[in-house]
Amino acid sequence: METKFYLLPPLNYGYKDLEPYISEEQLRIHHTKHHQAYVNGANTIMEKLDKARKEGTDLDMKATLKELSFHLGGNYLHSIFWQNMAPAGKGGGGKPAGALGDAIMKEYGSYERLRKEFTQAAVSAEGSGWAALSYCEGTKRIGVLQIEKHNVNFPAGYPVLMVLDVWEHAYYIDYKNERARFVEAFWNIVNWEIVNKWFEKILKQ
Ligand code: MN
Repeated sequence: METKFYLLPPLNYGYKDLEPYISEEQLRIHHTKHHQAYVNGANTIMEKLDKARKEGTDLDMKATLKELSFHLGGNYLHSIFWQNMAPAGKGGGGKPAGALGDAIMKEYGSYERLRKEFTQAAVSAEGSGWAALSYCEGTKRIGVLQIEKHNVNFPAGYPVLMVLDVWEHAYYIDYKNERARFVEAFWNIVNWEIVNKWFEKILKQ
């Protein structure tokens, strides 16, 4: 279906399939309510822009584009997040291999060191944010980013290979206020195969 607007992407697994690390209720609400809200938010702004052009009216560009950036970032990061997870033991967990495994060894010396830095980025994000594994085409080095909200401290042009959502809405049903426990659980459901696939695709470009 062709559309000018954003659509909520389906998950590649069932809502129960990330248990016991993410519960069915937590995942369902996160996907169908929170992610959907960013999809809707972005579409609402696109409609507002269309309408203003059609009617020849002005919008508060600063406020409109700030809001658009927030919703687009939310849609983009969640879309990656669902894909960079898989059910534990069925694609989720284990250690990175392939070109990504090699790049991690080169940059961090060990998988454990990457995991430690990424965990620290996720746990220490102020308020609502994300940890992301990214790649710098200038230096050919992978690295960890800490994104605030969905779009702040997010340098342009750095492809995202893997993300972890540490907004409270990502874990409050399962872990209450204990973000660190959620971050620890995440490692059991990382889909390293797809993260490596994306990385290899970027290297070939
Ligand atoms: Mn989220």
